[in-house]
Amino acid sequence: MEKNNSKITVTSPLLPNLEEFSEMLRDIWSRKWITNNGEYHKRLEAALCEYLKVPYVSLFTNGTMPLITALQALNISGEVITTPYSFVATTHSLWWNGIKPVFVDVEPDTGNIDPAKIESAITKRTTAIMPVHMYGTPCKTKEIQKIADKYGLKVIYDAAHAFGVEVNGESVLNAGDLSTMSFHATKVYNTVEGGAMIMHDVETKRRIDYLKNFGFKNEVEVVAPGINSKMDEIRAAYGLLTLRRVDDAIEKRKAVANKYREHLRGVKGITCWSDVPGVRHNYSYFPILVDEEQYGMSRDALYEYMKSRNVMSRRYFYPLISSFAIYSGLESSDPRNLPVATEIANKVICLPMHHGLSDEDVARVLDCIVR
Ligand SMILES: *Cc1c(COP(=O)(O)O)cnc(C)c1O
Repeated sequence: MEKNNSKITVTSPLLPNLEEFSEMLRDIWSRKWITNNGEYHKRLEAALCEYLKVPYVSLFTNGTMPLITALQALNISGEVITTPYSFVATTHSLWWNGIKPVFVDVEPDTGNIDPAKIESAITKRTTAIMPVHMYGTPCKTKEIQKIADKYGLKVIYDAAHAFGVEVNGESVLNAGDLSTMSFHATKVYNTVEGGAMIMHDVETKRRIDYLKNFGFKNEVEVVAPGINSKMDEIRAAYGLLTLRRVDDAIEKRKAVANKYREHLRGVKGITCWSDVPGVRHNYSYFPILVDEEQYGMSRDALYEYMKSRNVMSRRYFYPLISSFAIYSGLESSDPRNLPVATEIANKVICLPMHHGLSDEDVARVLDCIVR
């Protein structure tokens, strides 16, 4: 039998049914209303409120603009405490607002910001905390809120990975003052490019809706120096259709995660993180940590080996944000301040994880690692 050597990608976009999408496009064509809070935009906001179990959603053109806009909306300035272990957009959103990032180390078993290390990083200039639910694993939101309340700080969660994640039946997106999401093609749920902000009250929703549309309140009133980061009708329609498929996609991801865990559990030098009791995970990523000494091969060697077998993994999130030249000069970027994040970044590989992986694909991935 010929060996299957086709490329296994680390992710694969969840696509809508093409016929249903064409039907919606035809409807949009007949309406001749293609952006600016149209029918599909409204329908997707309502559908997401229901699916995500949150009171208010404001759609955005991507997942970076809601981060930038959230900081604007809450008038955040000075210093913000955040994690170095994330996608660069988290810290970039601070830079775009002229805010100094202060990096705090992460927990060894989740990669999330370590609440125990936040307090000592607070100064007179600190105004907010910006944690990330890394890989969709919920942050210790209660502990973080306690610190925020004690010092009068705002909390903005970068929830780009946390689509549909719940703790004891409640959405993790309801934590903090605001949460932001990314609906980029590579995420669990996508609208090609897209994103959203989650808020608790209608006044904030109104303000955010103004801010993402140049600050227009009506035809003649501009109430804030807003930006343009609206989602259009085409992608809102696409998003209504991918939403119908996302539960099934998460189930398929879960099955892949279980298979990975089952076979990697006994492999010396490979660590997989476990599901957290009471949490509805979304299996957005499957990180493993490679301990070179115990495994007998470095993380990078394994990564290259998998690539040579046409199995594409990604070293998310290496290098640490704090190590990029733009940020490495900050005091808090010193690796001695971030030992856990540094270690995880040096050991991590995210294995292929998406709804389209076959049993054979999973076996090929495992075959690269279990030798
Ligand atoms: C993907 C991602 C973003 C940015 O989202 P875009 O939609 O690509 O702009 C921000 N933060 C995290 C943690 C992400 O993974």
